[in-house]
Amino acid sequence: MRAVDIIMKKRSGGELSREEIEFLIGGYVGGAIPDYQVSAWAMAVFFKGMTPTETGVLTEVMLKSGTVIDLHGIPGPFIDKHSTGGVGDKTSLILAPLVAALGIRDPMMSGRALGHTGGTLDKLESIPGYKTNLSVEQFREIIQKNGFAMTGQTKEIVPADRLLYALRDVSATVESIPLITASILSKKVAEGAEGLVFDVKFGSGAFMKDPQEAEKLARSLVDTGAAMGKRIIALLTDMNEPLGNMVGNFLEVEESLDCLEGHGPADLMEVTLELAARMVVLGNRAKTPSEGRKMCEAMLLTQKPRQLFLDNIKSQGGDVEKFLSLRGNYRSPHQKVLTAARSGFIKRIDAYQVGIAGVYLGVGRNRTEDAVSPTAGLQFHKKGGDPVRAGEPIMTVWAANDGGLQAAIPLLQGAVEYADSAPGQRTLILKEIASA
Ligand code: URA
Repeated sequence: MRAVDIIMKKRSGGELSREEIEFLIGGYVGGAIPDYQVSAWAMAVFFKGMTPTETGVLTEVMLKSGTVIDLHGIPGPFIDKHSTGGVGDKTSLILAPLVAALGIRDPMMSGRALGHTGGTLDKLESIPGYKTNLSVEQFREIIQKNGFAMTGQTKEIVPADRLLYALRDVSATVESIPLITASILSKKVAEGAEGLVFDVKFGSGAFMKDPQEAEKLARSLVDTGAAMGKRIIALLTDMNEPLGNMVGNFLEVEESLDCLEGHGPADLMEVTLELAARMVVLGNRAKTPSEGRKMCEAMLLTQKPRQLFLDNIKSQGGDVEKFLSLRGNYRSPHQKVLTAARSGFIKRIDAYQVGIAGVYLGVGRNRTEDAVSPTAGLQFHKKGGDPVRAGEPIMTVWAANDGGLQAAIPLLQGAVEYADSAPGQRTLILKEIASA
């Protein structure tokens, strides 16, 4: 078998066999097939796509390039949620302790901020002492003790994706539905989850801007996951505006605690509760999402999820007392309040521009090796739908340095769209796609 023949077959729209996919991915991970051939193959896939069978085989072959976390011996069910990435999206921090309080175990492996999107690991690491590089043994122990653990990916998990994703990133082949499906699903299956809820975001701050494209990705994730024996539900959710009122690493942890204490912003709570409700259904604790949601709402009132969140901080090396004492005042020194340019209504605050401004502020990064600031970010005082008078505060911004603040301000001012009359209510959850 020759890599060049596999590339040619895909270039002309052929369906690759299991043997061909194994040969290509195995050869790449083993060093026998060079980057330039795999990048040509990825571009052929980008243009010609893959059949559902090919996508399933690619996912399996990538999964088998590494180890699968063994959760045997811990009572399940193991259900996780994965978001395709957004701005102000801290739902993981809220729903993991929430569903854990309902008896569901969440083995959560997360990523870091990149470009305009935030990362759960960076948020967690803003908590003094919190460790996100757990060994498999620590990961297991903490799941058993607290019901959930939150860690980064170990080197042993899907090494094929580590190589392939870096190559796609520099060869303009990221936005391919079969390649995204195999990349995300192989990693999620490797972490040991039995059921998965995908938050597939669409809109300016999402990876997929267009709802139709997001739906295709959701369908591909659901069908491929189901073919691998997993129960999957995907929700298409709106990411045209940041979720919640805080964007920033510590700021978002703080807002998550607000949610667990019963005073979270409506948009953030809506998306979180709808995702959590599906996790409860997949874990067989509820028959329908509406029953699951009621259980989540009632559980929040008990404060048990809040306590589990604090227990997890302690289990992962964080200093709970210090964390609580920093609440409300752990902010970067360069501060500015942005005010409304005119009276009327806020139509929308554009998620993409806020995300890019976040990179200048120190919340996110352009390159994986860049450092982020725990204390940079912003807090909205107004969001889409709110009435506003000229000169009223719209957001407070905190930056790691003055240069970053000055670079972010025009972007943030440009992100605010105004309207003369009240805009219609945004539909946050567009659609649910589930395996049969
Ligand atoms: N996130 C991933 O993990 N993989 C992709 O291909 C795209 C987003």
